[in-house]
Amino acid sequence: MADARPPRPGQVLTITSLANDRIKAIRALAMPKERRETGLFLGEGLKLVTDALEERWPIDAVVHGLEVGDQPAVQRAAATARARGADILQVSNAVLEKISRRENPQMVLGVFRQRLADHATVVPGESGVWVALETPRDPGNVGTIIRTVDAVGAEGVILVGPSVDPFSIEAVRATMGSLFHVKLVRANEAEFLALRAGWPGIVVGTHLSGTEDYRGVDYGRPVLLLMGNEQSGLTAPLAAACDHLVRIPQAGRADSLNLAVATGVMLFEVRRKALAL
Ligand code: SAM
Repeated sequence: MADARPPRPGQVLTITSLANDRIKAIRALAMPKERRETGLFLGEGLKLVTDALEERWPIDAVVHGLEVGDQPAVQRAAATARARGADILQVSNAVLEKISRRENPQMVLGVFRQRLADHATVVPGESGVWVALETPRDPGNVGTIIRTVDAVGAEGVILVGPSVDPFSIEAVRATMGSLFHVKLVRANEAEFLALRAGWPGIVVGTHLSGTEDYRGVDYGRPVLLLMGNEQSGLTAPLAAACDHLVRIPQAGRADSLNLAVATGVMLFEVRRKALAL
């Protein structure tokens, strides 16, 4: 049974030393191994922290610059996080720069617990739309796709096979907070094929040798949209699992579209009738 007691409020600490152990541990979250072992990740910016708090995403710490500590929005976010057990670390600019590895760092950061959704959540939902990405390698693409999935009101993203870490700082940055609003699932190929078998609508794969124009498909049923890897596209087993293999017509001399751009083009077509100004 879940523990119904409210968490103990977190501590408020002021840290100016780069050698502080807590700061070292947060900096280490830039490394995949550390994220794997701790189950934590870092997100930058007050908007991102606020988005996470709105979704009641598990939060370990809020880190903010000393000079923004009296801003009402920062104080509200810190108070909410602290009441949920997160520590509040008030730090110097030098510490902020070290954590975010930038000269002009965001003044507010969050340390969050990683959270993936269960396979059982892969159901059409309100929008009827999920996106599956086969072995994506580029964190910026994955973050941008998560943001676009959120923007069109689709349900979530399935990362199929060995994929880039969606909790890396680059991926999280590119989501602009949408990471907290869409479901994220990991599946190996066999698990994905099982999910595909239970999908109650159509599975639409995108392929450079697809024979159907992407604008010709009837998207009036639940759609599971399947996108290929940046270098090698969709593998044969996954392409064979699709009801439709579509292509986005191109002019000019580019071989293909960037994965995130192609996903955006597809999602806005799939959701065209549902979206209105
Ligand atoms: N060399 C790869 C290939 O042969 O498939 C290019 C992959 S492309 C950069 C990454 C993914 O974006 C593709 O697997 C596909 O899902 C999608 N994509 C890009 N351009 C597309 C197009 N014109 N039509 C359909 N899908 C496209």
